[in-house]
Amino acid sequence: MGGEQSSAVSEAKLAVIPRSEHEISRDDISDNALKVLYRLHKAGYDAYLVGGGVRDLLLRQQPKDFDIATNATPEQVRKLFRNSRLVGRRFRLAHILFGRDIIEVATLRGHHDADGDKAKFAKQDKDGRLLRDNVYGSIDEDAERRDFTVNGLYYDISDYSVRDYFGGMADLKAKRLRLIGDPQTRYAEDPVRMIRAVRFATKLGFSLDKATAAPIPRMAKMLGDIPAARLFEETLKLLMSGKGLENFRMLRQYGLWEPMFPLQESLLKRDDSGKVTALIEAMLRNTDDRVNADKPVTPAFLYAALLWYVVEEKAAVKRQGGMAPYDALTAAAGDAISKQCKTISLPRRFTTPAMEIWQLQGRLDKRAGARAFKLHEHPRFRAAYDFLLLRAEAEQDPELLELSRWWTQFNDADEQGRRQMVRNVGHDGSRRRRRPRRRTPNRAQG
Ligand code: ATP
Ligand code: MG
Repeated sequence: MGGEQSSAVSEAKLAVIPRSEHEISRDDISDNALKVLYRLHKAGYDAYLVGGGVRDLLLRQQPKDFDIATNATPEQVRKLFRNSRLVGRRFRLAHILFGRDIIEVATLRGHHDADGDKAKFAKQDKDGRLLRDNVYGSIDEDAERRDFTVNGLYYDISDYSVRDYFGGMADLKAKRLRLIGDPQTRYAEDPVRMIRAVRFATKLGFSLDKATAAPIPRMAKMLGDIPAARLFEETLKLLMSGKGLENFRMLRQYGLWEPMFPLQESLLKRDDSGKVTALIEAMLRNTDDRVNADKPVTPAFLYAALLWYVVEEKAAVKRQGGMAPYDALTAAAGDAISKQCKTISLPRRFTTPAMEIWQLQGRLDKRAGARAFKLHEHPRFRAAYDFLLLRAEAEQDPELLELSRWWTQFNDADEQGRRQMVRNVGHDGSRRRRRPRRRTPNRAQG
């Protein structure tokens, strides 16, 4: 292990880019972030815009949020802003609240050497993973602890310059994502950096630097040790921010999907018909389109699709064991959810609607009498219908396609049209098919 990093291990070498030589203008920074920067500065502290805010502004993109770093301690920040509160355990931070807008202010972090008096603040486990990280330090120490060079740029409010310690400006130009420091060590400290590498690569359209990419496949399984709640948050950033399909493919390519979604990965590996891949990809394409059109998306639907064939396979086994279809599905679903929760903890507010989406799949073909009307009024009907369309698309199964066409038509029809459709259902055999079958043993060969 090791030894293959060669030139890519980044050494700190500060470059200060004056205001006249970079693109960041105060007009691009939110008023609230500016307010915080100026107040810290006037109180005699250093204050910097840092992270994604600086990166995105330099790329002429709209930042998602503005993070601030300062040499004031969280307590000092707290005193300076009445509208603030301290949060976090792994990282202690101040949140400054402006209505719904929250500006995050972090105190510059220091080193976490094994010896020295700072050791009692930064905690590492046996694999070198950082558990707690509240050692304060200087800006150059802080820079060293950031993940990627393009995330380690500081916009200094005192003179509007950009401070670049690790060649982040050059990497921005080259559209290259490069870890600061020795990649293997940095991934071991925090394995989530591996999925961040994928997320930023797709988000920014960057390529992974060779040395940054190299250790990922063999270190991917370390993701299994990340707390399941943190991974849940990460999956939402990966799959619900407009680049879900690309992220899914790249995560699989680097072996990062398996430790997060072991159940799905084992299905994907033996997906002969291609339907498992097709369903996930259709759902992600759909989700990306919705996100990019500013339409709402929910983790319930996302996870319903991710787990569907896992649930179906388990349910089939239970049906073969003699369980009734509905009970089999419900038991299988509970089983799949609790297994998935070992790696990614799914909050109940999402698993409950996912469960309903699955259960409704079994009811969508029972349309006779008042059933279609009742179903159509169900609060989860729309999600279940959208899900049916996805399944039909993924499987190209004639019955599913026919069923989804029927519901689309029902949706669009007026009251009278709907009644007529329901009456026709009675004649197409779909309702009666089951009954005679039950009687056949008695009658046939009688
Ligand atoms: P986004 O646009 O997704 O918000 P971001 O770069 O701002 O991207 P955040 O997760 O908001 O990402 O983190 C802010 C900054 O904190 C990062 O730019 C990086 O400098 C630092 N950071 C975040 N997570 C880590 C980590 N796991 N290891 C090291 N540095 C990190
Ligand atoms: Mg951010």
